[in-house]
Amino acid sequence: MARYTGPVCKLCRREGEKLFLKGERCFSPKCEIEKRNYPPGQHGKTNSWRRTEGSDFSSQLRAKQKARRVYGVLERQFQSYYTKALKSTGLTGLTMLQSLESRLDNVIYRMGFASSRSQARQLVAHGHFTVNGRRTNVPSMQVKVGDKIALREGSRNSTFFKDLVLFAEERNSPDWVQRDVKTLSGTISRLPERQEIDANLNEQLIVEFYSR
Ligand code: SF4
Repeated sequence: MARYTGPVCKLCRREGEKLFLKGERCFSPKCEIEKRNYPPGQHGKTNSWRRTEGSDFSSQLRAKQKARRVYGVLERQFQSYYTKALKSTGLTGLTMLQSLESRLDNVIYRMGFASSRSQARQLVAHGHFTVNGRRTNVPSMQVKVGDKIALREGSRNSTFFKDLVLFAEERNSPDWVQRDVKTLSGTISRLPERQEIDANLNEQLIVEFYSR
């Protein structure tokens, strides 16, 4: 599946806030938002006042773009999350966010086995993880309650994953996943509730955007 390959910090600057797309760097003084918190582009600095000028459409668009960028999903795929959520019986916005949270790359990130979703995506794409014992290289795979995610046997001895255990030990994971840091494995115990998903995302505005 295609993915965005352009400059990542630009996306945060466009949204005017940290989206935490680059792992550890986002917590360091090297973060672009700390240095240049104005929109990218030639006129970004002079037109930064425009960020506050919000029509309904622009706030809906920004909410949608922000969520898309946080989860690293391109437009067509993001729209398909909305379409599927619309057909479901639950609340459209919440169901859409739960589907995004259930992506395999996001779950690995949430378990603390990667410093960012893009790193998790790469680890999955390189076939380092299994779901219910089967190797997969599809970062967008939807994992279900009860599914077991584990580091592949053949990857365990590499230095990178030994260091990753130390990294994961220092990271928290949400209550909706259970994990065993020593073996870099875990299960989904339930779907996340709204308060366990980024509060900065506004699913209502996203639904409004797509139902125009
Ligand atoms: Fe965003 Fe992280 Fe880049 Fe800062 S370092 S601008 S939070 S991606």
